[in-house]
Amino acid sequence: MNIHEYQAKELLKTYGVPVPNGKVAFSDAEAARAIEEIGGSKWVVKAQIHAGGRGKAGGVKVVGSRDDVRRVADQMLGSHLVTHQTGPEGQHIQRVWVEQASVIKKEYYLGFVIDRASQRVTLIASSEGGVEIEEVAKANPEKIVKEIVDPAIGLLPFQCRKVAVAIGLKGKLIQQSVKLMQGVYKCMVERDALQAEINPMAVVELHGEEHLMALDAKMNFDDNGLYRQKAVVDLRDLAEEDPKEVEASGHGLSYIALDGNIGCIVNGAGLAMATMDAIILHGGRPANFLDVGGGASPEKVTNACRIVLEDPNVKTILVNIFAGINRCDWIAQGLIQACTTLNIQAPLVVRLAGTNVEEGRKILQESRLRFITADNLDDAAAKAVATVKGS
Ligand code: GDP
Ligand code: MN
Repeated sequence: MNIHEYQAKELLKTYGVPVPNGKVAFSDAEAARAIEEIGGSKWVVKAQIHAGGRGKAGGVKVVGSRDDVRRVADQMLGSHLVTHQTGPEGQHIQRVWVEQASVIKKEYYLGFVIDRASQRVTLIASSEGGVEIEEVAKANPEKIVKEIVDPAIGLLPFQCRKVAVAIGLKGKLIQQSVKLMQGVYKCMVERDALQAEINPMAVVELHGEEHLMALDAKMNFDDNGLYRQKAVVDLRDLAEEDPKEVEASGHGLSYIALDGNIGCIVNGAGLAMATMDAIILHGGRPANFLDVGGGASPEKVTNACRIVLEDPNVKTILVNIFAGINRCDWIAQGLIQACTTLNIQAPLVVRLAGTNVEEGRKILQESRLRFITADNLDDAAAKAVATVKGS
């Protein structure tokens, strides 16, 4: 689960991470009012969407008057911001964050991710901030510093100092970086985050002195930890998520939208991945990942079909069920129910195996609906791809 920049900043602030004074606003009037509370004489108006690359796309504007705050907020709110991280249609801006503008001396990169190889939280830092870390990794890999954290003892001050010196921080900024890095790390671990990115972590000038601050913040949380993170769940902004994914999760289905045209309905995450691989192997493109889970009732199958078909790109549906806990007869009933209630016109390629398979096949056959049946995964993928060839 993702949260907005301003939510991450407010959360990190409670962990002692220095962030600029700011306020969220849902209207231009609210944005203009906010600056009275924030104070200062220059402000940054920042579009709040769950995607990065806003700066280059016009979603981050520094302004010097109350009128300009209002004007920029008015322009942003309600518009769609297209960044290289959004789709071509962009993301609808419904909130802006107004904060005191910083006088930036230098931008650094700070990130915490879970490194799969060491199975530990890893700190990543670079002197090249403000640009994407993937770009730095490509162009200047030597400018990326990594530090692995031992979960038993946490991120130690000497590790932070080592990183700080390696990216070129000096003097009291080194001590400030320890506080900042340890704050982000503690927040990440306590709140079950999977990722935290401060880009830029900046040296800013304030009252003639240099300070280290988090000027941007992105955090992503482990869905499996949400049951014990009520405060995090409260930050969820459903408007930022794919409505199909939101609806699917409400029905106990794991659905991820993709960009192909073959809709997939599969039981089990592993089989769903294998099904997508088989489609690609045969030259097709999956429109989604969908795991109906075990014990899928006919209603669940109908819901799955409906959600898959909400994607206008879907030309064919491929159903691949290897029933263990599931029952093929229930799946078959669900498919028939879906075909009749949803009036499905798209070809439906069905591969059933496992519990009650004979019964399931019989139900499909006797329905007289035009299912394309397949004997195995490879056959099913080939048949599904054949139905969309040339489209
Ligand atoms: P992103 O493009 O979505 O990652 O948004 P950021 O919050 O990182 O902002 C993009 C860029 O805007 C930063 O790298 C800064 O260079 C600039 N920026 C952000 N806040 C300020 C500020 O307070 N003052 C100034 N002068 N520039 C800022
Ligand atoms: Mn950024």
